[in-house]
Amino acid sequence: MSEAPDIEALDAEDPLASRRAEFLIPEGVIYLDGNSLGPLTARARDRIASAVTDEWGAMLIRGWNEAGWFHAPQRVGDRIGRLVGAPAGSVTVADNTSTNVFKCLSAALELRASRKVILSDSGNFPTDLYIASGLAEGLGKGHELRIVQPEAVEAALDDSVAVMMLTEVDYRTGRRHDMKRLTAKAHEAGALAMWDLAHSAGAFAVDLTGAGADFAVGCGYKYLNGGPGAPAFLYVRPELQEHVRPLIAGWMGHAAPFAFDLGYTPLEGVGRMRVGTPPVLSLAGLDAALDMFDGVEMAAIRAKSVSLCETFIREVERLCAGHGLRLVSPRDPGVRGSQVSFAHPEGYAVMQALIARGVIGDFRAPDVMRFGFAPLYLSHREVAAAAAALADILETGSWDRPEFRARAAVT
Ligand SMILES: *Cc1c(COP(=O)(O)O)cnc(C)c1O
Repeated sequence: MSEAPDIEALDAEDPLASRRAEFLIPEGVIYLDGNSLGPLTARARDRIASAVTDEWGAMLIRGWNEAGWFHAPQRVGDRIGRLVGAPAGSVTVADNTSTNVFKCLSAALELRASRKVILSDSGNFPTDLYIASGLAEGLGKGHELRIVQPEAVEAALDDSVAVMMLTEVDYRTGRRHDMKRLTAKAHEAGALAMWDLAHSAGAFAVDLTGAGADFAVGCGYKYLNGGPGAPAFLYVRPELQEHVRPLIAGWMGHAAPFAFDLGYTPLEGVGRMRVGTPPVLSLAGLDAALDMFDGVEMAAIRAKSVSLCETFIREVERLCAGHGLRLVSPRDPGVRGSQVSFAHPEGYAVMQALIARGVIGDFRAPDVMRFGFAPLYLSHREVAAAAAALADILETGSWDRPEFRARAAVT
């Protein structure tokens, strides 16, 4: 048995420790699912309450101007832009990630009209693939979605590829693509590069500008903690903005929505990718949740994320040896996002037993237990305690109960 790391020392020197008090995580819960739904912050709670009472309630329609609802998608987009290496005016908040995939991919395909292949990989999140195949079919122009293994993307880039559409961090394994390298390869092949940052934004520094990415999308409710159903974001590289034509051209992307012209004229910039009225209350929650990133360097978040993940892997492997767990995340932190996944034949029931003890992760079929590590509110002590709870459940077989085997709709 290897030495236990000095958990207390790691927490004592944690520069992000003071942020924890801002998160309203129930007593007794160790929350390892912020990669799926970030927790409530006091600020988001208060801001949503105020948006309801002081803005909607008191201002009524005047809120569009007086409370700044109208410009919120762009303002909040710029706040997210800072976290993903995008300049002001290149990110907007809108819709959900699936819809943003549709909008960005359709715009990208039009920019490479002579090419017919959308290249993606089998590590992509299914909704991205469903949207791409539906779009390919719906356009009726002979497009094809080509899905290869994650390691085979580079070799599959040829002059038939219009768009390389990838998710940076694999939602199941946490494996992280090299965005910069693959984007450069896509460009060499004459293709555009579109990235889904669902498991990247807020988890580590993303550099869309440095990577030269053409389009990007991502969720507001995962590491950004915007709340269930919080709107998503999208990015269009500044040089492309005036050339993109939104396939869903709506009035909120119009140059002058309140001129009520019968014809469509796109807004200058990324804002043309908006469609209709934004979800003002959710957007207020997302805006306030982003305060947690103010004054924090993404490098500090990344350093702690790596430390939390390394601690978890080490503790699980030290305490759970011989119980059939298999690390499915990369061992090298350099190619891993901010999650750690272990496969176990009874992973679903084991995860339910963990959740019953207040250690909340999730499960992805067929056998993956997924643990997300959000540095703004987790401590090494909690991570070690989660590993110890897992060891106890496996040691005692306490997972083996009918109530832990019964599958819920959301796993
Ligand atoms: C979570 C996630 C989504 C979710 O899309 P929604 O439209 O917000 O439901 C999309 N893509 C990836 C890669 C995800 O991880």
